[in-house]
Amino acid sequence: MVWPVTTERDRSGRLVIGGVPVTALVEEYGTPLYIYDEATLRERADAYRRAFARHYPRARVVYAGKAYMATWLLPLLESAGLWLDVVSGGELYLAHRGGFPAERIVFHGNNKTPDELALALQLGIGEVVVDNHHELDLLERMVPADGPGLDVLLRVNPGIDAHTHAYRKTGIVDSKFGLLIESGDAARAVERIVGIPGLRLRGYHAHIGSQIVELEPFAATVDALFRFAAAMRDRFGVVPDQISPGGGFGIPYESGDPEAAIDAYAEAVARSALAAAERWGFAPPVLTVEPGRSIVGPAGVAVYRVGTIKDIPGVRRYVCVDGGMADNIRPALYGARYTAALANRTGEGEALVTIAGKYCESGDVLIKDIALPTLEPGDLIALPAAGAYCLAMASNYNLALRPAVVAVAGGEARLVQRRERYEDLLAREALLATPPRSD
Ligand SMILES: *Cc1c(COP(=O)(O)O)cnc(C)c1O
Repeated sequence: MVWPVTTERDRSGRLVIGGVPVTALVEEYGTPLYIYDEATLRERADAYRRAFARHYPRARVVYAGKAYMATWLLPLLESAGLWLDVVSGGELYLAHRGGFPAERIVFHGNNKTPDELALALQLGIGEVVVDNHHELDLLERMVPADGPGLDVLLRVNPGIDAHTHAYRKTGIVDSKFGLLIESGDAARAVERIVGIPGLRLRGYHAHIGSQIVELEPFAATVDALFRFAAAMRDRFGVVPDQISPGGGFGIPYESGDPEAAIDAYAEAVARSALAAAERWGFAPPVLTVEPGRSIVGPAGVAVYRVGTIKDIPGVRRYVCVDGGMADNIRPALYGARYTAALANRTGEGEALVTIAGKYCESGDVLIKDIALPTLEPGDLIALPAAGAYCLAMASNYNLALRPAVVAVAGGEARLVQRRERYEDLLAREALLATPPRSD
């Protein structure tokens, strides 16, 4: 299902999400607008919890904040029993200010700075996933030998090639993430961690990429992690109590895309973990999975207003909307495909059009060649599956104002992030005279 679970059309043909007509939301909050359906968010988070409870009760589901992070989302994740992954000081700060329990935060990243690590240690976060030897140098200096100690996982690179866009692959040999098993680099890191008194090695992590819909690469990753764990047990006597095959489970973006069932994913990962634990002689450890996209992606819908419609006879009809690559760079960055629907009415006819953005790049195209009813300036176009990696990657290119975000549930809408204002664009202008104060 590409659309949020509550999506319907009312009698006048308007798209309704969470019981609220999109037209009403747009009237109040303008366009471009990002709508999150809370029922879908809860259902996805819950689906993960239930699936792993069924297939592998010792599982830990960690939401990957980089897919979309905002303070309003945190209580929902927390109440669903999820942990949280952060990949920067900024995400860590936001999680902290949003009141997310520090002991359920995991810190990732291939080049964590000393300041970021210091903040993580100061806040007392649950776990750091060590990516490289430089990070170990830093931690060795920063974590006191006689303190409470720090739980760490080691990110290894298993050399697995998942079928996804090259920019979304992270577990192939030629990658900036983690330490390669094959070269012995990962083993050297294990040896070092074991020798650093402040660090407790809890286990091994790998993340092979994103928007992966086949289950086999996840099973292969789990297997590679256990095989590595067995080798490390034999060499250094360390027994992991955690194995993490990362995140990356895909979602459908267009109507013909495979469904990507969370239960099937959980079953496959669980089955391979149980089999590998038995094969290598381990008691089943905590199994950590880190879904980002597959929790928030299907809950989000972007809404744009149509402006210019430009016909190039015999070539293409461009329908230009009031957003584009500044709020959703995925089509330009990955060649990502989306579907869309007319949101303010049902329409007659059907024509092939290209939905273009308003920014100064020819590559600023949201959807190339989509069949939609005949569109008029002023129409609203809704793009589903826009909950992940759209706002998270949004920029102020062309000094675009980043969109407002509303959360809808049970016929009510909450403004959870206001649209940026022109004044926000001046917030960092160090040399601009401050406007006279009224007092
Ligand atoms: C990006 C990332 C995730 C989440 O990936 P999704 O495709 O959004 O599920 C999980 N773990 C790590 C380490 C990541 O870098």
